[in-house]
Amino acid sequence: MKLADVFIEVPQTPAPAWFKEKPVQFIMLHTTASWHCKDYKHINEKFFLDYFLKTLRWQKVGYKFMIFCDHISQFGPLLLEQDRLIWQEVTYAEPKVNDRAVHISWIGGLEGTPQKLIETDNRTEYQKEAMWSLVKRLLEYYPNAKVCGHYQFSNKPCPLFNVVEEARQYGIPEKNILDKDPLNYHYIFAQMKNKRKDNLV
Ligand SMILES: [Zn+2]
Repeated sequence: MKLADVFIEVPQTPAPAWFKEKPVQFIMLHTTASWHCKDYKHINEKFFLDYFLKTLRWQKVGYKFMIFCDHISQFGPLLLEQDRLIWQEVTYAEPKVNDRAVHISWIGGLEGTPQKLIETDNRTEYQKEAMWSLVKRLLEYYPNAKVCGHYQFSNKPCPLFNVVEEARQYGIPEKNILDKDPLNYHYIFAQMKNKRKDNLV
């Protein structure tokens, strides 16, 4: 992963009046909770563009970065010269923090048969390594941001692993780890485990 290749673009359209620029506070990790790209070729950029833009009718993909089996895709610009998000950089994965978060999602998380679908952490080694090297590079640009999991803000097991524990394993400094778990990850995960899963994302 070369973050030097990160897409940097000057904004072309003005921010809506309600939008206030804020420092990047969170680097939030997600799973697509979809079939895995290692098993299905059609789980690619086009699949997610169709899903977000046509099925959900969103204006853009919900995540800034998506981690496939052998590459990372970036959706939309990211201005790395400054410690804040501008309007064009905002993605929509978690409404509580979208205006101050960079969202990253790994592709996969779903296993089983149509009769019994389960959500599980089936990341490949590449996906783990790529995710954490991306987080480390982003922290160089956003030195005060904290890495966190979606489950720390919403009652869902996303991204299907314990972000706080893994951040420590990968050597993320304590000051850059969001150490709060108000909804209790283990409880959420236990609740969701083995539960029938019908929706993507
Ligand atoms: Zn999520």
